[in-house]
Amino acid sequence: MSSSIARHPSTHNDPHWKLRADLAAAFRWAVRMNWHEGVSNHFSAVVDDDGGKRFLMNRDQIHFSRVSASNLLLLDADDPDVMDGPDAPDPTAWALHGSIHRRVPHARVAIHLHSKYATVLACLQDSRMPAIDQNAAMFHDRVIIDEHYGGLALDEEGERCAALFTDPKKKVMVMGNHGVMVIGDTVADALNRTYFFERAAENLITAYMTQRPLRVLSDEIAAKTAAEVESYPGQAARHLAEIKLILDKTEPDYAT
Ligand SMILES: [Zn+2]
Repeated sequence: MSSSIARHPSTHNDPHWKLRADLAAAFRWAVRMNWHEGVSNHFSAVVDDDGGKRFLMNRDQIHFSRVSASNLLLLDADDPDVMDGPDAPDPTAWALHGSIHRRVPHARVAIHLHSKYATVLACLQDSRMPAIDQNAAMFHDRVIIDEHYGGLALDEEGERCAALFTDPKKKVMVMGNHGVMVIGDTVADALNRTYFFERAAENLITAYMTQRPLRVLSDEIAAKTAAEVESYPGQAARHLAEIKLILDKTEPDYAT
């Protein structure tokens, strides 16, 4: 990274300000949803439109509820010296998100969580998501399952996980024995997908707990439902817009 990149812009003249505010809103909402995990877990968003690989990400060990537009780091996935600076990011986050943004051009935004129900799903011997309801059907043939957890996501593990995002249609990765990684085109897209995946996992795990037989939709109906949801207009953008309106009233410092 060139030292001229401002990691902590102090004014709204920053060209990435809207993206910063959107990403900060996603962190704050993750707290409301109880998806946060101590001072761990990271979200990232690519700022470049021209093939550049600079991305925003939360700082090392800052609670999600204190992330704001101005305290997000701006990092360059192609910069080998990122971990040498005074504001170096968490090494596992750098390995995982840096690898994704270096290798996966369709991952404009990446949300990594150890949210409760997605993580429980990741702990089952069979981490597939049968289409037992509309939320689960949304993810029909759209999920990668990684069954080869290899410890903390340091260099090789980050590269290994990133290399699994080969099919642009599959934007959720259940990280076996670990958590979930959700990618998307925009913050709104990735956050909305995260929301529905966690809800789908919650419903599935709750259904498993009843120990009653499941009513699983046919592959044909699940595929049709997934395609219909994907082409449903504007829901992700509207979801984030509503979240920001709520945050504007209740914790407006997210956008400072
Ligand atoms: Zn993790």
